[in-house]
Amino acid sequence: MGKDTNVLNADFFREYPVISSGKGIYMYDENGVEYIDGASGPILCSLGHGLTEMGDVLKEQAVKLAFAHRDDCVTPILREACTKVCEFTNGDMEKVFFVCGGSEANEIAIKLVREYHLDRGNPGKYKIISRWQSYHGSSMGVLSISGFTKRRSGYEPYLSEFGHIPPAYCYRCWFGREAGKCNFECAQALENEILCQGPETVAAFIAEPISGMSLCGAEPPVGYFKKIREICDKYDVAFIMDEVMTGVGRTGKNFAYMHYGVVPDLVSMGKAVGGGYFPLGGVACTAKFYNEMYQNKGSFPPGYSWSGNPLGAAVTVKTFEYLAEHNLVDHVAKMGEYLKSKMQALSTHPTVGDVRGRGLMIGMEFVTNKETKEPFDPKVKLSLQLNREALKRHMLIESSSGCNRGQSGDQIMIGPAFIINKEQIDTIVDQLDQVITTVEKNNGF
Ligand code: PLP
Repeated sequence: MGKDTNVLNADFFREYPVISSGKGIYMYDENGVEYIDGASGPILCSLGHGLTEMGDVLKEQAVKLAFAHRDDCVTPILREACTKVCEFTNGDMEKVFFVCGGSEANEIAIKLVREYHLDRGNPGKYKIISRWQSYHGSSMGVLSISGFTKRRSGYEPYLSEFGHIPPAYCYRCWFGREAGKCNFECAQALENEILCQGPETVAAFIAEPISGMSLCGAEPPVGYFKKIREICDKYDVAFIMDEVMTGVGRTGKNFAYMHYGVVPDLVSMGKAVGGGYFPLGGVACTAKFYNEMYQNKGSFPPGYSWSGNPLGAAVTVKTFEYLAEHNLVDHVAKMGEYLKSKMQALSTHPTVGDVRGRGLMIGMEFVTNKETKEPFDPKVKLSLQLNREALKRHMLIESSSGCNRGQSGDQIMIGPAFIINKEQIDTIVDQLDQVITTVEKNNGF
């Protein structure tokens, strides 16, 4: 542990562990003390730490060609990276635009749908409808469409409001329905919102297929996304799947939209697309979507200086090769089922209200009363307590609060690297068990 001097930390008063190396799912501090990375950073380092081949790829590409500008030229490695992404979608997507993170990816997705509607002679269509309890990134455009009250808090004066609909959150259904026994009221809400906003003003709808940190693994009911797709088609509204957290294998399929039998018009990605070795994101679109732009204006000038850079492209190509060579997506599906069943077994704890998610992103929500689903008083900061107790035991987990309409509700997420094995999952869940027991005791349970 050590107090940082010139680093502007998230919490100015906290002593952070000083981590200097990593291997697989482990990280080590300066004194060699081992930490289990139970969440692969922010559900990001998909391939695990310390892979020599990833370092080699970066070095080789840096020496060969570290930078080339999208406005001036294209590189063979960028072509290869875009092809890899499209192949990974089994041909559902046709064109890819690379950026340097998930927020940038969603910013570009917004601009792409705007361009698409402009090109087709619909200049009135500009609104992006999204869901409450969602997260699409931290820059102002994508924070505007995010519905994560805690992360929007304080920045509201900079945010635009285009319309948010209720989340697909069966544990605390906003319509008071029971999971599997509803009429998809939360999907129907999209049609209502489009109509109230005026269909001629709505450009797109964006959603995470499985919720990230705002609802920690909440999944929509079966059939939800089919209904969403139908509504989008009916009103000429583009459908963006935000797969920044779920994409590139995290949920046990190549992309999470594949669980639901629908194909979105655009898929944004981030985190795992760089394996944890380079700041990367991207947006892919279907041939149908692209052709509309191609046949009309035929250009898309926006971008960032580092969009499509060769270093990121080289890392992407290697990431997809590594996933294939080690059959990691299937492995994630298997390990995910195991992790979920182990975490479900912790439901015997008096405070564990719900365990949810798919693949290697499994969330847990905590309550004071399982019958009434009463959340903890936010002053208790339960999710923070869980996070800090895990850290005391040298385990890093993700935690968040505000799942109960932004006001209360505590959750954690376990999302280790794809290379994890059963024994390591046992260790993580055993540790988690002890973490929960300690925190429960400290809070009078
Ligand atoms: N979209 C989702 C679903 C995310 O989970 C995140 C980050 O956690 C983002 C977008 C933003 O990505 P980034 O932090 O790489 O900008």
